[in-house]
Amino acid sequence: MLDWSKIDSVFLDMDGTLLDLHFDNHFWLEHVPQRYAEKHGLSRQDALNKLIPLFKSIEGTINWYCIDHWTKELDLDIALLKEEVKHLIQVHPFVVEFLENLAKAGKRRVLVTNAHQKSLDLKMNNTPLSGLLDHIISAHQLGIPKEEHNFWAELKTLENYDPQRTVLIDDNLAALNSAKEYGIKHLLAIYKPDSQAGLKDVGSFQAIRSFEEIMPTG
Ligand SMILES: [Mg+2]
Repeated sequence: MLDWSKIDSVFLDMDGTLLDLHFDNHFWLEHVPQRYAEKHGLSRQDALNKLIPLFKSIEGTINWYCIDHWTKELDLDIALLKEEVKHLIQVHPFVVEFLENLAKAGKRRVLVTNAHQKSLDLKMNNTPLSGLLDHIISAHQLGIPKEEHNFWAELKTLENYDPQRTVLIDDNLAALNSAKEYGIKHLLAIYKPDSQAGLKDVGSFQAIRSFEEIMPTG
């Protein structure tokens, strides 16, 4: 699926790619609605009916990924609420081996996430990932999300790379599309971002079920 001899840089998304999206889905669709309902004396369903349109209205924008935005908008301490369910943070199977083998093969391992610094810190503190990455980049450093066309050009101010010799592995199809438009040559989607949900429709992108399928050797 990938010819590793043609790749120098490996751009990796975090949530849903290296980490199980179950944490995030549970957090936004179960935990936040529950706490919001408690705070406002609503039923869980009423809380969901209020929250889902709010979430949808800014999906794919930098604010959607911003903890400070939601803390203010919902008047809930989102960072604290994430701490409450941090036991659900899980690394997908074969990710650790994959990152170790990338290093052995001399590839540059770059985390490129839309996650806010506080979410990123929580996940790095509760997984072994930070020691297995060469560079960790949050889109908030650039102020634009991966979904925007100019993200991949702006990224060069933080990480020099050759789009022809780079692979982006991401469960976010809008991010894969913007990377494709920019000219990143190798793109891979994820069939099962959330271990508790079914297979994702990845459109026309090539995709993996597990990192075992693209393990570099040598
Ligand atoms: Mg993702």
